[in-house]
Amino acid sequence: MGMHTPGPWKLLNDGRQAIVRLDDGELIADLDIVDNDQANANARLIAAAPELLSLAIEFRETIHAEWCSSDGTHCEECDAASAMIKATRGTEHD
Ligand SMILES: [Zn+2]
Repeated sequence: MGMHTPGPWKLLNDGRQAIVRLDDGELIADLDIVDNDQANANARLIAAAPELLSLAIEFRETIHAEWCSSDGTHCEECDAASAMIKATRGTEHD
């Protein structure tokens, strides 16, 4: 399983399609519009995904350092963050 395309990802909407692209034009996602507001909301969420993942990784490290026990046992929030991060990356990364 590969890593995702590095961000930032940008949302463009021409009224027919909501498109998520890189600055150089590389296509990340192309959403057909049924409901324009909903397509925009979906595309915004996709476009924010790299930053959301980075933040989740940072928060997980902070939670781990602050809340987890020094004996190697993780707190519930750290486990939940780790599971979400693994789900977005595939299972080969911590
Ligand atoms: Zn932990």
